[in-house]
Amino acid sequence: MEKYNFDEIVTHLKTTGYVYQGSEIYGGLSNSWDFGILGSFLKKNIKDLWWREFIERSPYNVGIDSAIMMNTKTWEASGHLKGFADAMVDCKECKGRFRADQLIENATGLSAEGKSFEEMDKMIEDNHVVCPTCGKHNFTGARAFNLMFKTYIGTLEDAKSVVYLRPETAQGIFVNFNNVARTSRKKIPFGIGQIGKSFRNEITPGNFIFRVREFEQMELEFFCKPGTDLDWYKYWVDYCYNFVKKLGINEEKLRIRPHDPEELAFYSKGTSDIEYAFPFTDWGEVWGIADRTDYDLGRHSEVSGKELNYLDPETNEKYIPYCVEPSVGVERLFLMICCDAYEKQKLEGDDERVVMHLHPAIAPVKACILPLSKKLGEGAQKVFEDLSKEFHCEYDEAGSIGKRYRRNDAIGTPFCITYDFDSENDNSVTVRHRDTMEQERVEIAKLKDYIKERIAF
Ligand code: ATP
Repeated sequence: MEKYNFDEIVTHLKTTGYVYQGSEIYGGLSNSWDFGILGSFLKKNIKDLWWREFIERSPYNVGIDSAIMMNTKTWEASGHLKGFADAMVDCKECKGRFRADQLIENATGLSAEGKSFEEMDKMIEDNHVVCPTCGKHNFTGARAFNLMFKTYIGTLEDAKSVVYLRPETAQGIFVNFNNVARTSRKKIPFGIGQIGKSFRNEITPGNFIFRVREFEQMELEFFCKPGTDLDWYKYWVDYCYNFVKKLGINEEKLRIRPHDPEELAFYSKGTSDIEYAFPFTDWGEVWGIADRTDYDLGRHSEVSGKELNYLDPETNEKYIPYCVEPSVGVERLFLMICCDAYEKQKLEGDDERVVMHLHPAIAPVKACILPLSKKLGEGAQKVFEDLSKEFHCEYDEAGSIGKRYRRNDAIGTPFCITYDFDSENDNSVTVRHRDTMEQERVEIAKLKDYIKERIAF
């Protein structure tokens, strides 16, 4: 399995305009990133594709867009106020702070998932785990660190005005279950999806945009009749995996990892992660799919005192639906897509090129129009204007044609369209394909459909 150096990929994404360091002119803010002129397009295209495949094209699902700040009772009901905490240890020597499970795993290769604080302390002791920063073995005991960002609403900073930035979008869906059931006229099984920002005060963010404190999630909560949940769970695992596969991700670097029973949350009947072999680790979670039973609706029903039931119109049965949740981070998908797309190719002689083999459906620029000479600007501009009505295109007349091809390969533009002197007479252009570098002559009148066909998902 070929893996590129991660730093090389990160540098490429920074220098081409995919991702910028956040607040850079002030020295940055640790682990904060801005999406640049290409990255903002790629991110938008990923989200649009998810929305189309999971909401618009699905006979079952609808979408919402709920608020980031929610009534604090939400987090009491969901368990986040009490339980959304990582076990953290501090190094008493250098004051470094680490997630206990990661510290143990990195030092020993042993999994600490699901272990109690005492068990983790013992693992650190028994294996004589040392601090990755200063090399000493002198840690505090493991203790809980709540990952939710806290702020205040209104003018008074007191306990009553505390609100949290949501750590996941899912709860905005659960609290709207009755609203959607009433206004959509959907019958079970149906799903509610949304895309939005989530915030987690991660103890150890890092690996570029893999783990950040501010990120976007695309989550679907799929409600079904109890007893049918495991079939739907399998359905959504397959659906998500096929989505990733269709994006062209190398299957050798993909796997579905079902959680062991001891890893499962107490309410979950099954959870699987779609993982990718990122350059900085063996396997990293990209997408989590969980059968969450009736836990969430049940808890919100209990805490709010409002019934969150479903009355089956055919059988008159009343029940709390079970829920299957496929949840994915936009930045994680983005990173997987970029790591997988990146290739440095040796060409003839000493020549080489960097290519981003992005699926054309999500490539930021679909086509770049290149007049062979500046004298051909008028005709080439017409092609650009016409194609721009349908897709995001660029126009580039600076530098040799070879350099212009390389620039576009490096940012993942699937088609370069050269307008040459013959174009003036035969009303055709040369289309060069990014991956194969093959060229073919296409009539200008047929160009739009030609591209449309080839960028479809
Ligand atoms: P991890 O074990 O990596 O912390 P998690 O199991 O806590 O992830 P979930 O709560 O299941 O993650 O979140 C669902 C998805 O949201 C993840 O699969 C991932 O794609 C994304 N995600 C979660 N936390 C972050 C983060 N800090 N930065 C970027 N994406 C994230």
